Amino acid sequence: MESGLLDISERIDFSAVFEGIKSANRIGIQLPDGLKYYASDIARKFREEGFEVLLSGKASYGACDIDMELLNVVDFLVHFGHTKMVDVERVVYAPYRVNYTIDAELLKERIAEREVAIIGTASYAWKFEEVAEELEKAGFQVELKRGRGLELKGQVLGCNYSVLENIQSDAVLFIGDGQFHPRGAKLYCKRKVYAYSPLTREIFEVDESEFVRRRYIEISRAKDARSFGILVSTKIGQKRLDLALKIQRKAFEKSFEAEIILLDEITPLAVDNFRFDAFVNTACPRISYDDYRKFSKPIITPSEFEIIVNDTKDLSVESFS
Ligand code: SF4
Repeated sequence: MESGLLDISERIDFSAVFEGIKSANRIGIQLPDGLKYYASDIARKFREEGFEVLLSGKASYGACDIDMELLNVVDFLVHFGHTKMVDVERVVYAPYRVNYTIDAELLKERIAEREVAIIGTASYAWKFEEVAEELEKAGFQVELKRGRGLELKGQVLGCNYSVLENIQSDAVLFIGDGQFHPRGAKLYCKRKVYAYSPLTREIFEVDESEFVRRRYIEISRAKDARSFGILVSTKIGQKRLDLALKIQRKAFEKSFEAEIILLDEITPLAVDNFRFDAFVNTACPRISYDDYRKFSKPIITPSEFEIIVNDTKDLSVESFS
């Protein structure tokens, strides 16, 4: 077995997956981009257990993105890297779990507040009961709640920060990697947010000002628009047609031209030929937040569209649950 797959075997509970698919003959495997490199090793592992295997060649952005075409031709689809977000029969999830320990003394030294809510993505949140105990032993009072529609306590998604609704703590501690989720958390709950990576032992207080500045530039580019393309993804966990219809009604009330466009992948190639002045993206908010520079027209979120129609200034991050 390759050493890479050995690492993955430590981070994915394959025995639970095999248990969930034992009645299957043919299975589909859907992997996030980061795991596609190991696709043939993973496929071999399933074949050795007696399964016929088909791989999904589609992107897999999150649990919102189930390969329904592949599901149609297999007995079970094994979706790697994420926890369940939507109920789909015959889909088994194989979440990716980072094993880690926290440095409670370092956190005590660097976080001034003593009441903290802990949050993170599924890869880290699976260990939060243990983390909460350790933090409490170190003198913190820990808030550990479950967000709407999410499997794990403390779990956030880039489109779901509901775990932070009505929190009581003075500060939020994000445990995991990257800046995207802690920044979203800060914009959602307007509290002090610390981001801590147990792997690199780095901790910093989140500053959202640059992100906010970039979003206001994008909103101001869309302010002169008279026509909007309202984008709806057909991906199972991103399809928000009701929201799109609501946005369209609002646009009509303000005498804008507005049409709803359904598509699977929202890419510049797919939308650039439409003659709209701006787009409202009801699908994954990361398309607006991370990829907006690739689009020739402004591509704003539903709450940013509200800022335009209501002429307000209060920017909030998109949280759909
Ligand atoms: S943030 Fe985007 S990719 Fe992640 S679950 Fe939400 S819609 Fe899917």
